[in-house]
Amino acid sequence: MVGCELIANTSKLNLLICRHSVVGRLILTHTMMKKTCLLLVLLAGISLGAFAQTKTTKTENIILITFDGLRWQELFKGADSLMVDDTGLIESSGSLLSDFWHPDPLQRRKMLFPFFWSTIATEGQLYGNRAYGNRVDNQNKMWFSYPGYNEVLSGFADDERINSNSKINNPNVTFLEYLNQMPQYKGKVMAFGSWDVFPYIIHENRSGIPVNAGFDLAEGDDLTDVEKTVNRMQQEIRGPWGGVRLDPFTHHYALEAIKKHKPKVLYIAYGETDDWAHGGKYDQYIWSAKQTDAYIREIWETVQADPQYKDKTTLIITTDHGRGITKTSWKSHGASVPQGGEIWMMAIGPDTPATGEMKTQGQWQSAMVARTIFQLLGMEYPDSKAAPAIKEMVK
Ligand SMILES: [Zn+2]
Repeated sequence: MVGCELIANTSKLNLLICRHSVVGRLILTHTMMKKTCLLLVLLAGISLGAFAQTKTTKTENIILITFDGLRWQELFKGADSLMVDDTGLIESSGSLLSDFWHPDPLQRRKMLFPFFWSTIATEGQLYGNRAYGNRVDNQNKMWFSYPGYNEVLSGFADDERINSNSKINNPNVTFLEYLNQMPQYKGKVMAFGSWDVFPYIIHENRSGIPVNAGFDLAEGDDLTDVEKTVNRMQQEIRGPWGGVRLDPFTHHYALEAIKKHKPKVLYIAYGETDDWAHGGKYDQYIWSAKQTDAYIREIWETVQADPQYKDKTTLIITTDHGRGITKTSWKSHGASVPQGGEIWMMAIGPDTPATGEMKTQGQWQSAMVARTIFQLLGMEYPDSKAAPAIKEMVK
């Protein structure tokens, strides 16, 4: 029975019906056979309609990484000629030149970001090189951190309510929280950040997502040796800032959590680059940027060596805001700095075409990340206010 074979391929439900009909066919009259086949064909139609909705993407895990206040200028052109050897912005003359200077910006960017300009440039995508008219901007008009992170995580700007960096719980639900509400992701969503405002941005209390941020220690009765050592060192090495820890602590807590808890959804927010820039220290900003590239390589190589994650994980990397372009305005951002909303983003994963550096003219926003993540996971984003998905990022 041809119809029956067709139906047998469509779903378990119809396979059962079909088997039943095969078993019983000897006792069916010719008329009954015809009626049964009509019914089965109708069921097949319904079933195919339902199955058109099934997941077609390969992504099962998501890792989102943000890199606070790193400019697109360094990402696409490497160390800035204006600042790379300016003793007003670096401690020691010549200290950056051998590692970070080359007259060709394509060489310079590889010196600064060897992972991005090897692996991501050949296997993933990089958006935001404005030399090609490939523009990524904040949707929000604030151009500082909390509005930037709210936009990335919830999918839309909310300049009415998210207009300061104060420790106020986010009234918006983030994509992390939506996922943590779903049975298949519940308890498998984790966040790590260097800035102590992340527990509020992610609304740790309402969302139930564990957020290790600021100077939080790893907690629990089953701490690994690595977690015990990182806890101890974080208490011994205070770092230069009050509300932001140095990124090695954030990185090693997150890396250990990948190995120990195997989260399906992980958010890591590195923070040093912005704070070094505010302090006017271009050398520290550049060294930190290169170290973060190495950290992201380590995260990617760790997941690609683990069968739970390998070729089933999409990594998206972006930033919360841009910054200025002069020796003074580079230190800063916000609505008064004209380039403060110019940003960038990257992605690598099994569903993302390996187009490398995007050179097509167009406009993207970090608000598009949340819906894109849901699409990569094979789902529609539940909040209609969220920006559209990045169609170029999903095959
Ligand atoms: Zn800042």
